[in-house]
Amino acid sequence: MTQPAQVTKPLPEADDASKPFWDGAMEGRLVILRCADCKAWRMPWRHHCDQCLSDRSTWEQASGRGVVRTFGIMHQKYHPAFEVPYNVTIVELAEGPRITTNLVGVSNADIRVGMPVVVDWERHSDITLPKFRPA
Ligand SMILES: [Zn+2]
Repeated sequence: MTQPAQVTKPLPEADDASKPFWDGAMEGRLVILRCADCKAWRMPWRHHCDQCLSDRSTWEQASGRGVVRTFGIMHQKYHPAFEVPYNVTIVELAEGPRITTNLVGVSNADIRVGMPVVVDWERHSDITLPKFRPA
């Protein structure tokens, strides 16, 4: 009888557009695109600013702080490596953009909309994922 192959969670892969974000994460820094003209933050990354349509931007470090905007608890197993239940949370960063993530360091039953949170890093060999925990 053969053992089943070890199943691991799928991980994102950096591309040219997202490389600064993932490089920052590897260094423990939440780095987000910011308009060089009107200073609006934008995420996900895109060429033109939502506010002023400028195509000039810089990658800048965000505070890593935010609040839970909304969340869901997943009970359906969509991938064999994920243990259910787990949360999928939208954090509104202090800078304004929203990031889809998971909360750690808190039970799913204790997650609340408006809860202050801070970034926490989940390190893998080739990539580091931004998770959030209660502040
Ligand atoms: Zn702008």
